[in-house]
Amino acid sequence: MMRKKPLNIWLLIMVAVSIIWLNSPLAAGAKNSTPERNQLKIYISVDMEGIWGVVHTNQCLPDSPEYQVARKWMTEDVNAVVQGLFEAGATEVVVNDSHGSMRNIIASDLDPRAELLSGSPKPLSMMEGIDSTFQGCIFVGYHSRAGSAPAILDHTISGAAIYSIKVNGLEMPELGLNAAIAGCYGVPVIMLTGDTTTCWQAKEILGQNLVVVPVKEAVNRFAALNFARNKVLIDLKEGAKKALSLLPSFKPFVFQPPFTFELDFHNSNQAEAGTLIPGVKRISPRTLTFTTGDYLEGFRLARALIALASIS
Ligand SMILES: [Zn+2]
Repeated sequence: MMRKKPLNIWLLIMVAVSIIWLNSPLAAGAKNSTPERNQLKIYISVDMEGIWGVVHTNQCLPDSPEYQVARKWMTEDVNAVVQGLFEAGATEVVVNDSHGSMRNIIASDLDPRAELLSGSPKPLSMMEGIDSTFQGCIFVGYHSRAGSAPAILDHTISGAAIYSIKVNGLEMPELGLNAAIAGCYGVPVIMLTGDTTTCWQAKEILGQNLVVVPVKEAVNRFAALNFARNKVLIDLKEGAKKALSLLPSFKPFVFQPPFTFELDFHNSNQAEAGTLIPGVKRISPRTLTFTTGDYLEGFRLARALIALASIS
């Protein structure tokens, strides 16, 4: 008889503890077996040529008087996306400034909920800071690969040195090369913004379910119809919300190893110095190629070859 009372007390304590536990955020994580489950981290890489209003190189160069207003538009485009992400439940957003000096976004005007990776050089360049803790990656203000038309300021990494870059035989724009970096960490690209040609190119490579927000339609390399600003800012915000709502449907973009890189330069002199690097072969006067089992290593070597070409 005496044992009945202590048993009831223990039962009450256990029920109370269970109720508190089931309502705690930790319990929600435990159900999914990963405590980070409640976190929704999104990574944004921001280039400049695909920003609304930008149609000419002069708007992308810090010494030009036209640059200051273009970096304001760049910050506004990013803010619209960041706003949509937080409204749709994102808990953390990291923005990587990915153009030129990588000091373009006006830090004090960026949505204060977002973190900003600013400055260069960065080992992973346009994808610095990406890791497996992010659930999705977004490209804002991206442009088409070298040789696209009609497309604003089409180029691949270096307009002065690179004619084309292929990975495993496929010609890649920056959006593809960078998506494969995110893929190394299991992170899918969920959204892209830029001109209409870049949006089309992104869907071709990353899949038709990619959320794209065109902000302008190119007439040629240096002229575009910029869509109504009010509509664009709404589209960017709503696009980010849509991308998060479709999150489970996206898959990381990956190439199958081994990874063969082929870099075509504008002239033979730009390929010359690269032949000094072990493992790099020259298969035509202006074409270098190499194969590696590590995509990130391949990406870094490709960048090193472009840097050598740029000083040749
Ligand atoms: Zn750029």
